[in-house]
Amino acid sequence: MSGRGRMLAVSSESDSPRVSYRMGGDLSQLTERQLYALRKRLAAGVHDPALTLRGALHSDLRQCSNERCRCRSGELHGPYTYLSVYGEGRSRTVYVPQALAGVTSEHVEATRRGEALMAEISRVNLELLRRRLLR
Ligand SMILES: [Zn+2]
Repeated sequence: MSGRGRMLAVSSESDSPRVSYRMGGDLSQLTERQLYALRKRLAAGVHDPALTLRGALHSDLRQCSNERCRCRSGELHGPYTYLSVYGEGRSRTVYVPQALAGVTSEHVEATRRGEALMAEISRVNLELLRRRLLR
C-alpha cells in the first residue's frame, strides 16, 4: 500500500457496476452509493488507533564525544535510527534502539497509511456534504 496513487475497486451493491478509484481521485464521478461504499472500504483499512505513532524515521552516522576516537578521522558510528516527531510547535528527535526499529517502523507506517485513509474519508464526506447527502 502506498497511500496516494493506490487503486481501490469500489462496488456498493451487487447491482451496481464496479469502478476503480484512485486515492486523491475525482469523487464527483462517483454515485452516492459508490461514495458510501468507498467510505466504508477506506474506513476498514484504517489502522488500530492503539498503534498510532507519528513521526519520520531516519538513519544517521554519528561522531561521539571522545576526541581520540576513530570517528574523528571519519569512521563514524552507526548507522543509528532516529524518529523525528513534530508536536507542540517544535520538532524532537528520539533515538530508536536497534531491537525496536522493526516495531517502530511498523507503527509509523501504519499511522501514515491510516492518516492517508482518514484524509480520503474526509474528502468523501465533504463530497457527500456538497450533495446534501451526508449522514
Ligand atoms: Zn567515536
